[in-house]
Amino acid sequence: MKKLMVANWKMNKNGNEVMEFLHAFKPKYSQKRDAWIASQALYLKLIINEGVSAGLQNCSEHVSGAYTGEVSPRSFKEMGGTFVITGHSERRQYFNETSRSLNAKNRTVLAEGLTAIYCVGETLAEREANLTLSLIADQIHQGLNDLSLANENNLVVAYEPVWAIGTGKTATPAQAQEVHAFIRQTLKAKFPAFGDKVRILYGGSVKPDNVEELLSQKDIDGGLVGGASLKPKDFLALCGDV
Ligand code: PEP
Repeated sequence: MKKLMVANWKMNKNGNEVMEFLHAFKPKYSQKRDAWIASQALYLKLIINEGVSAGLQNCSEHVSGAYTGEVSPRSFKEMGGTFVITGHSERRQYFNETSRSLNAKNRTVLAEGLTAIYCVGETLAEREANLTLSLIADQIHQGLNDLSLANENNLVVAYEPVWAIGTGKTATPAQAQEVHAFIRQTLKAKFPAFGDKVRILYGGSVKPDNVEELLSQKDIDGGLVGGASLKPKDFLALCGDV
């Protein structure tokens, strides 16, 4: 399975900075690992025009209609988009998204032929209360309930422990692998035809100096990366192109 590195730029970078990044990144990128970028929606066309796979950080669960301010996954697909990140912990925390409400979004994203990168993960309090695996199971069952996959590329699951996002604290490779193995079992039971091939990404302070050890774990198929994806040199290193 080819490893996948996804850059989540959040609400960072203006148009010039997006182009500067692409011009530094592209000539050195070898395609050894897949590299996908989620910029602000405004700049995704710039990324697509450069031949790099681009994704939304959120989208509407509807494809058109009277939903002022929303972004349609259908329009994004028509524009050449590849994926949508759904259920990032910042959206769960600041915009009240829940696994149940994300189910509709995941369905629409898949129906439109885009890949959903569905994020799950526990807070520190939940980990300390020993709730990690039961919480992840609920997030997967609710968010992916009754979804049907046409192939293994329709879906990516990102395990992002909330306590490790943007904090500099990384889950140890063993901690991450334990949860990834559990997600793998859950996906295999839920999607017998494709569950063993859906890519499971780790996210939470992934950096050039910890990426290889994380990727060496059996069920870690790539990374969802915030901070360290903003500099071309660091993102190239994460893609195995030092
Ligand atoms: C993220 O935003 O999904 C993330 C993992 O951020 P960081 O790499 O900065 O921890």
